[in-house]
Amino acid sequence: MVPAPKAPKRPGWDEYFMQIARTVATRATCPRASVGCVLTRDRRILTTGYNGAPRGVAHCLDVGCLIVHDHCQRATHAEANAIVQGALHGVGLARATAYCTHQPCVNCTKLFISAGIERIVYEHAYPDPVAAELLAEAGVAIVAFASLRALERPA
Ligand SMILES: [Zn+2]
Ligand SMILES: [Zn+2]
Repeated sequence: MVPAPKAPKRPGWDEYFMQIARTVATRATCPRASVGCVLTRDRRILTTGYNGAPRGVAHCLDVGCLIVHDHCQRATHAEANAIVQGALHGVGLARATAYCTHQPCVNCTKLFISAGIERIVYEHAYPDPVAAELLAEAGVAIVAFASLRALERPA
């Protein structure tokens, strides 16, 4: 009997959604950062977002960033854009998991909490003590993607 060919390694769910978040990040229109976010629930994608200018506003890539206090004020953060996409299309985000290429800033953290996101998985660490405190108080879980890899089982 000929053994079945070895199947390529299947990603687990966390790996799968983080791969998608990395792909989403490649659409970013602000050269200062390429950030991607995927909101999921029950292993389904609800919305995605990347950092870039609001709709109808010129891209940083074309006209340059709008820097105030060393931050680009033109671009909306990826996480906020993922929430806005839910608002545009009437997608409720309660109980969702957020896959973020970067640890969310304090403002995006507050939006996540109010939108009902219950778990955040991030790849690149940008620790913010205020964000951490708010998440703990609201009971929202936040985990580093690297810490999940060891536990992952494809299902
Ligand atoms: Zn910019
Ligand atoms: Zn943010």
